[in-house]
Amino acid sequence: MAKKQNKPTLAEALRNNLKAAKEISRVCPGLFSSLVTANALESLLNYIFIFITARLLNELVSFGRAGVLIRWGVLGAAAVLIVEMTVWYFFRRYQLLEEVSREAIERLYMEKLFGMDFADLDKHSTHDLLAQIRQNERSAGFGFGAVPGILSDLVYSLTSVFGGIGLTVTLFTSKVTSDGPLKLLNSPLIVLAAIVMLMGISYLIGSLNKKGETVRTRAQELSAASNRVRDTFSKLGRSVQGAADIRLYRQERIALHHVRSKDAYGPGGSVDRLVLSNVGVLFGLSQGGQMLFTGGAFLLICLKALGGAFAIGSVTQYAGALALVNHTISNLFGTAGRLTTNASYLRTAFSFFDIPNAMVQGTIPTEKRSDREYDVEFKNVSFKYPGAETWALQKLNVRFKVGARYAVVGENGSGKTTFIKLLSRLYDPQEGQILLNGIDVRKYDYREYLDLFSVVFQDFQLFSQPLGANVAGTDEYDPERVKKALEDAGFSGRLSELPKGLETCLYHDFGDDGVSISGGEAQKIAIARALYKNAPFLILDEPTAALDPIAEADIYAHLGGIVGDRTAIFISHRLSSCRFCDEILVFGDGKIVQRGTHEALLKDINGKYAALWNAQAQYYTE
Ligand code: ADP
Repeated sequence: MAKKQNKPTLAEALRNNLKAAKEISRVCPGLFSSLVTANALESLLNYIFIFITARLLNELVSFGRAGVLIRWGVLGAAAVLIVEMTVWYFFRRYQLLEEVSREAIERLYMEKLFGMDFADLDKHSTHDLLAQIRQNERSAGFGFGAVPGILSDLVYSLTSVFGGIGLTVTLFTSKVTSDGPLKLLNSPLIVLAAIVMLMGISYLIGSLNKKGETVRTRAQELSAASNRVRDTFSKLGRSVQGAADIRLYRQERIALHHVRSKDAYGPGGSVDRLVLSNVGVLFGLSQGGQMLFTGGAFLLICLKALGGAFAIGSVTQYAGALALVNHTISNLFGTAGRLTTNASYLRTAFSFFDIPNAMVQGTIPTEKRSDREYDVEFKNVSFKYPGAETWALQKLNVRFKVGARYAVVGENGSGKTTFIKLLSRLYDPQEGQILLNGIDVRKYDYREYLDLFSVVFQDFQLFSQPLGANVAGTDEYDPERVKKALEDAGFSGRLSELPKGLETCLYHDFGDDGVSISGGEAQKIAIARALYKNAPFLILDEPTAALDPIAEADIYAHLGGIVGDRTAIFISHRLSSCRFCDEILVFGDGKIVQRGTHEALLKDINGKYAALWNAQAQYYTE
């Protein structure tokens, strides 16, 4: 749930909504210019109609000249036609672009997520924040998606009010010509009193309407919480895994109880109580106020007309314009209410978009060397995860020999994966330095630095896209190189069975013609992707965890040839597979507790490596 914060002022509300509009128009150009033009012209159309009708009536009751009548008629028809056509052109454009903007807003979130520091993406708080924003958009209809609608109403109402005022100025300035008590209406004091009274009533109507709208908005917010509960449980009902648990433990009892107790719409629910509260009275009073305004305005118009201040046509002009002003002022207040409510939801959205990229991004390009002489060194490196109390890595010192093979072993939680995440700069250490050819890696261009590493993490990600594109990371690739990488990763047998070869789509997310692949096959494709990238460092975190013993033996038998002249680092629990490595780094409690070749490490019979080795050997000898 959103933290209770102070309500935004109208100025902040406007600022927030306009800031969001600016962001949206960056990815959806033309939306707001169409919105402003369509709404402004649409509201002016009413006044063109009122103005022309008044001129026609005035001519009819005064001189009745056919030429003048025709001129006004033609001018009116042409103006209405041109404006109406322009309105519809921009309105259709706006409607279309509003649809497009939904996808564009989605793109804004994606852009932010893709560009975010890994450390922030890895935080629960970031995902909670995003989930909350999505719920606000979906359930309550507030946030970025609400901005075009609210700004449309705002532009329409503001233009209407100003247009109406423009058409009624002469009501107050024109003078009563007949003698008698009506002459009093020419007094500036009376004019001022009439204006103040009409504005006062407008303000009252607006405030009542805004209060009513606030109740409506509150109901929308309350229903958001209810929708969230309903969504969660209906999703649970649809999931096959959930369905099994529900049947075995009769969990529907908890689900239904929860839905009922949180149901805002049900009898006696929070929305129900709100709707039955004073909202009806508020809207009723607002309507009454509108009648009062209309009555007062009509009285003034009729009295001035009676005193000869203007002709009958102008009576229709003033009456029509003031009725519109009256109506739109109350809408304007309602829109201001929605603007303010949306601004507080936008605060939450901006707290996501404003997450800074705190990671230092250098500018030095990495050397492009064909001899792969990239010298990487950890110097006294210590690292703690954000918010964690304990060090995940402490005072690490390692220098990788170019072209050598390293194994990283150790118990769960000893810091092996964290070590790799630091090496591939997903995180930066709090203490010490990681150096590339003697220079702190933070000084290098981030993208270029990442280009030096091919890593297969345990939780690697493949996409529901063609196999070739998955391996190459792009749609344009060299098919022969992709096939070679797949072959080296042990996937060639399966590749020959695939109906469309490299063009075969993995998984079924975008259609039925995809293929299902097992965990082991996915791991082979991920290894092939790392090989295709052909970076100077090849890092495999538990590369064979999902493979069957035959496939595993096959990969390890060929690993030497596959790695070639790259510097390779393998994290593995299977110690027998590390024997071919030049050096084994044994991790314990975030430190390197032993290092050396397999044979040398085994000689230290009290060491951690020997303990791990013996623990595994036991399974095979028993
Ligand atoms: P290993 O790969 O050796 O199993 P890890 O490097 O994954 O160990 O973890 C080292 C320590 O850091 C563990 O105590 C683990 O709980 C902690 N850790 C790992 N990932 C995170 C994270 N994203 N946030 C906080 N702590 C983490």
